[in-house]
Amino acid sequence: MSVLVIAEHDNASIKGATLNTVTAAVACGGDVHVLVAGHNAGAAAQAASKIAGVAKVIHADAPGLEHGLAENVAAQVLAIASNYSHILFPATASGKNVAPRVAAKLDVAQISDITKVTQPQGASGTADTFERPIYAGNAIATVQSQDAVKIITVRTTGFDAAAATGGSAQVETAAATADAGKSSFVGSEIAKSDRPELTAAKIIVSGGRALGSKEKFDEVMTPLADKLGAALGASRAAVDAGYAPNDWQVGQTGKIVAPQLYVAAGISGAIQHLAGMKDSKVIVAINKDPEAPIFSVADYGLEADLFTAVPELVKAL
Ligand code: FAD
Repeated sequence: MSVLVIAEHDNASIKGATLNTVTAAVACGGDVHVLVAGHNAGAAAQAASKIAGVAKVIHADAPGLEHGLAENVAAQVLAIASNYSHILFPATASGKNVAPRVAAKLDVAQISDITKVTQPQGASGTADTFERPIYAGNAIATVQSQDAVKIITVRTTGFDAAAATGGSAQVETAAATADAGKSSFVGSEIAKSDRPELTAAKIIVSGGRALGSKEKFDEVMTPLADKLGAALGASRAAVDAGYAPNDWQVGQTGKIVAPQLYVAAGISGAIQHLAGMKDSKVIVAINKDPEAPIFSVADYGLEADLFTAVPELVKAL
């Protein structure tokens, strides 16, 4: 049996989360196919065909698939689901919107947020055992599934990205399913930023409640992010207080990130924040409280007032 990855894309290109999901799919065993369900999405399908490790791209194209409406994408996945032993989605907002619908329709359990595909393989020769973090990442559950088809969401920070080029998969056109008519796309407001996207950034600088106001957050954190070419992040306390926008939140109820470098300024290191960033390669913490829990995960800790330390750091860089 083959393994199907549901591509995350914008009809023109493939989003990075798809590459990590392909790596997880390869670990499941069997041929890896990628479904590109979109509208005028030929360029995205071509991009998917170049991903290393992909054997086939299935391209379904229709106006109802343009915006990734969950009802329509789920119907498209279900139309071809019987060909697959595993169907993998990135554990992103859109993947998590579609996967449960597919699992419910197939009457199987969803295996959420996997970080590892473990051996041994099941009787079918493909993987049936997975690891996933629970309790905000404080414990790892090993989950074995005997369902005929395994519906999986993949924590993208748990798997390296597959190479975006080097593959040469065939692109097969699939008949698009009819618009379910249950929802319609009204509009979207996309924040435009020259900064790297938080979950794809190699460097992230995050600010916490200690910043005290939106003005101070911008004044202190933005120059550091500019100097480092970093994405900006924030704790939930900073977001809730309006110092930073919602989509900057890092943590259990925000984004899960694992950059090369994560700088936390004025963040205490509550477990819900750590759940979102503790897999970062190098963690730098600036906090004036030597007992702050963030220091327990930091590779480099600076016990200092951030209003002095961050501008000094910017000057020194
Ligand atoms: P605080 O805990 O108030 O810490 C501020 C820190 O700044 C302190 O350590 C202090 O010593 C330091 N400080 C103060 N002044 C200075 C200064 N001048 N210079 C240097 N340091 C200074 N939180 C998240 O971040 N992300 C989540 O996704 C998330 N999800 C949650 C989900 C649930 C269900 C719950 C219950 C909570 C969640 N939280 C989350 C909230 C979390 O528990 C903490 O409340 C939050 O992370 C605290 O944010 P903070 O570290 O900015 O603020």
